Amino acid sequence: MTQQQTVHEWLIPSKEGRSFQLAKGQTLKVIDVNGQQVADFVAYRESDSKERLDPSVTMDALRTMSIKPGDLLYSNLYTPMLTLLEDTVGKHDFINSACRPEMYEFLYNKPNHQSCYHNLNTALSEFGIPQPDQHYPFNIFMNTVIDGRGDIQIEAPLSAAGDYITLRAEMDVIIAISACPCEESVCNGYQCTPIRVEIT
Ligand SMILES: [Zn+2]
Repeated sequence: MTQQQTVHEWLIPSKEGRSFQLAKGQTLKVIDVNGQQVADFVAYRESDSKERLDPSVTMDALRTMSIKPGDLLYSNLYTPMLTLLEDTVGKHDFINSACRPEMYEFLYNKPNHQSCYHNLNTALSEFGIPQPDQHYPFNIFMNTVIDGRGDIQIEAPLSAAGDYITLRAEMDVIIAISACPCEESVCNGYQCTPIRVEIT
């Protein structure tokens, strides 16, 4: 890649969420600061929030749940929203919905837990995007393993400190990222840590 100047950078604190504006052509780098930390990622068309990044459509369009640099991420209207440019990990999740308080109550008997659903809603409200009934994010660094029988296992992320992915916007988008607050499983290596974001 050609050398580009970093325009903005943020540290999303452990267990929190943030939202960002990304203009067409800008790139976004999502960095796992300490390693083994999942970043729930959602994107909406800036001019119409009814169009959003859709992991199911993306899997349908790509015929895979294993994206590679050069692959497009699609909206619910089958429009390219983002392109994956770089990926130092190679393992992410397209199938799990965002964690939400009801999940923590169901799986861990812990009601009123912090959640990606709440983090994403709070972050997106800054841009006036209404809260959906659920978020279906691109779960960056999440390591979901499906065996030949269809059984699903969440394993520790393969990301180490400093690993990252880079995405380029193919339209003007509003994005939100949640540093997943789940410490109850190996999803985040049993320890929640920050996510770093750079927009160039
Ligand atoms: Zn989460």
